[in-house]
Amino acid sequence: MNKVKIDRRNINLNQFHYFVKANARFILNINSGQCFAVDTIAYDLIKRIDKYKDLAIVKKKLIKEYPEEQIDEVINELLLVNKERSKTDEDKSLYNNIKKELDLDGLVLMICQDCNLSCEYCYGENGTYDSKPIFMNNKISESAINFLINNSKSYKKVSISFFGGEPLLNFDAIKHAVSYSKNRGLECSKEFNFSITTNGTLLNNRIATYLIENNFNIILSLDGPKDVHDKLRFFPNKNGTYDIIMKNINRIPKNIRKKIGIRATLTKKYMGIKDIITHFEELGFSDVTIAPVSTNDTNLQMTHNDLKSLRNEYSKLALYYDLKFKNKIGFADSRTKTLLESIHNLMKTYYQCSAGRKFLAVSTRGDLFLCHRFVGNGKYKVGNIITSKIRGKVIEKVIRKTVDRRIMCNKCWARYYCGGGCYYESELHFGKFDMSNNPNYCENFREYLEWMFWLYHKHRKTNLIENKSNK
Ligand code: SF4
Ligand code: SF4
Repeated sequence: MNKVKIDRRNINLNQFHYFVKANARFILNINSGQCFAVDTIAYDLIKRIDKYKDLAIVKKKLIKEYPEEQIDEVINELLLVNKERSKTDEDKSLYNNIKKELDLDGLVLMICQDCNLSCEYCYGENGTYDSKPIFMNNKISESAINFLINNSKSYKKVSISFFGGEPLLNFDAIKHAVSYSKNRGLECSKEFNFSITTNGTLLNNRIATYLIENNFNIILSLDGPKDVHDKLRFFPNKNGTYDIIMKNINRIPKNIRKKIGIRATLTKKYMGIKDIITHFEELGFSDVTIAPVSTNDTNLQMTHNDLKSLRNEYSKLALYYDLKFKNKIGFADSRTKTLLESIHNLMKTYYQCSAGRKFLAVSTRGDLFLCHRFVGNGKYKVGNIITSKIRGKVIEKVIRKTVDRRIMCNKCWARYYCGGGCYYESELHFGKFDMSNNPNYCENFREYLEWMFWLYHKHRKTNLIENKSNK
């Protein structure tokens, strides 16, 4: 056993996060992503280094409780872990590789900026995003497709996402854009993939068959069981939409229904995350994502006072997945699956999403915005597909703001799993795109992430994580 040279500079505490979950203690090396389940002595050591900031003092205190040799052993291990700074070189290359020209792998087409619903939390002024015209015409969609072809040099496969409002209100324009993309794709050797985010109320047999035949990735906005969903997603006359959506969904064969992704919005009106997930699992869905509502409305937004209930929810959720792993059963929660994969692969996330880097949104007028949520906000208008004028400076600013360069995020222990939060959320809460998410949501995310580490440690040897096949 080497005698430990006591020097507090040897251990950089900023590099560690320590936490307890279900009586298990963990130390995470934030930079490398390695997370260790540790015994009481290691945990006490790091906790006291955090408190006293001096290894010599800590050692003196610990000697009263543990044998010196054991303490030295743990310190040595900690020093080794401290050295693990994997993938830091990648951080630099990320900045160096910032491209000066657009290189997109997809566009979001606001094919219809109108909606047949009047959802409680709509951020898009009932789908209009406060801008006109309401429907995208064929000339704009064709120009957008050509714009994508001309600005996707590195990508053979590109995607078009139809968004709204409710995109199915402009179904003919969708059909035209799909057939135009396919033809242009053949001419330019590009393969087009299509997706649509819909409220599901217009998904009749004819439309469903078309979407299925054209291999659409269908994303359905559905918030949970009927009583939860109907409180938030309703027609202008306040009638809920759950029943009509279910009627439409039940027409779709089960094997195809399995492929439909569910996007549920979580509000403080109902925070039963686990029950929402199980509801969709029972209906036969296998791809469910739950995201907290984006709003400043305190009747909907989760606040600091809700953190306790949410903490309970995350522990319930983790125990539910624990059981699923034990019984070798997959689960539908896509966010959890992705996070477990990231933990397993020691992946580092530098951006929350690829808005501005890999995709942009096109309004019905042909204006380009950072993403669909910014449509109508001139501050985040980055160009126009007809004039092909691009405000490269806006895009470059976004690309430069990796999580390490965001002042509210660069000290957050969860940063490489979060990527710095949504630009829209940041703008909503701080008036700038590069701050952080709503701080209460950050708290939630960190709590959830700790549970994910706990879950991963219990089941890291199961195929469900290693094979990425836990669908
Ligand atoms: S957005 Fe919040 S959780 Fe994400 S890195 Fe920033 S501070 Fe951390
Ligand atoms: S900025 Fe926010 S809303 Fe826009 S794509 Fe990214 S995560 Fe989604």
